[in-house]
Order: sequence, then structure tokens, then C-alpha cells
Amino acid sequence: MRRGRLFVISGPSGAGKSTFIERFLKRDKGSTFSVSYTTRKKRDKEVNGREYYFVDKETFMDMVEKGGFLEWEIVHENLYGTPKKEIIENLERGIDILLDVDVNGAINIKKNYPEACLIFIEPPSREELQKRLSLRGEPQIELRLKRYDEEIEKKHFFDYTVINDNLERAYRDFENIIEQVRGH
Ligand code: ADP
Ligand code: 5GP
Repeated sequence: MRRGRLFVISGPSGAGKSTFIERFLKRDKGSTFSVSYTTRKKRDKEVNGREYYFVDKETFMDMVEKGGFLEWEIVHENLYGTPKKEIIENLERGIDILLDVDVNGAINIKKNYPEACLIFIEPPSREELQKRLSLRGEPQIELRLKRYDEEIEKKHFFDYTVINDNLERAYRDFENIIEQVRGH
């Protein structure tokens, strides 16, 4: 049986990762999203267990000690981690997995799973990113923009980059990359 593929979607906060992933999962039945754990506060529209499992620091560190994460990082002063068990099970069942992790998390995953496909989503500019974060109602815009340069510098670690200027065009590029990788 064909093993599932791991697609790691990364890039600055506000670049459009969730928008692409949500669209893709709506039409693609052969893949699933890996829900990460985080200690950050839930946004109004978010649902526990859908975007993230929202946990306190103690619960998170307990999972770290038990080896429950494939990788974990401190991002914007909060802890974020990718749970290991579900991913391994899904890949073995032939289900493709989409992960939304920060750039350092993506690079770490590639070290342990070289067969993972890393896709970098890039906003057209810092100014446009700022606009989108503010339209999203993001309360920590400055903190998120501070990481922008650092993240862009690491895009050469990625297998593919999609510039998210025009949403329709960019989304098509994103979808084509996944289909192309699946075809191999
Ligand atoms: P991320 O998951 O990378 O943090 P989001 O998918 O939440 O980013 O996108 C940030 C905001 O920008 C959202 O409000 C989203 O609707 C908007 N957005 C995404 N792509 C585009 C685009 N191509 N043009 C304009 N706005 C966009
Ligand atoms: P947000 O708070 O905007 O949802 O996410 C902030 C950042 O954390 C984003 O760059 C997102 O990709 C990243 N992130 C989400 N889940 C994980 C995870 O499990 N591991 C790592 N390393 N980063 C994550």
C-alpha cells in the first residue's frame, strides 16, 4: 500500500497558509490536517480541536517529556507542537498530511523526514502582510512582523515557494505543487 505524504506548509504569519489549507481540504478527501497543540489564547472564531488543541503550559511540557511531539517550537512567545502519533498512523494508512508550522519547525521536520515536501508561502510584501494581518484583526501585528525578515531568509530550505499575491493564481500554484509531488 502507498504510504501517505507529508506536506509542510510554512511562511510568515498572515501569508495565507490557513486560507490555502482550508480550501484544499474542502475538495481533497485523500488528505487531512494535523492539528497542533498550542499554549496561545484561542481566537474568537477558532474551535478547540479544529485549528489547534489549546492547552496550558504544564500539559504541553508533559507531552514534550513523554516524546509526544514530532517537533515543537516557541513562536511569538507561545509554545506550538506537532503531535507525533496521529501523523505516523495516518501516513501508514496512506493518508497525506498537511502541516502548518513555523519555518524552524519545517526545517526540523525535513531533517528527520527528508521525504517531506516543504512549501513556503510568501506574501507579496511586508506592507501587504501588515494590511492582511490588520484586516484579520490580529492583536499582535508588530510581534509577527518582527519575524518576517528572519523567515524570508530561510526560504531557500524549502522545496517550493508560492507568492500569494493574487489568491486564485497562487492557490492554483499551490494545488499544482501537491498534485505534482503526488504523481511521483
Ligand atoms: P496564515 O494562516 O498564513 O497566518 P491566513 O490564511 O490567515 O494566513 O491569511 C491572513 C489574512 O489574509 C486572512 O484574513 C486572509 O483572508 C487574507 N488573505 C489570504 N490570501 C490573500 C490574498 N491573496 N489577497 C488578499 N488577502 C488574502
Ligand atoms: P498562529 O498563532 O498565527 O496560528 O501561528 C503562529 C505560527 O506558529 C505560524 O507560523 C504557524 O505556522 C506556527 N505553528 C503552528 N503550529 C505549529 C507547530 O505545531 N509547530 C511549529 N513549529 N509551529 C507551528
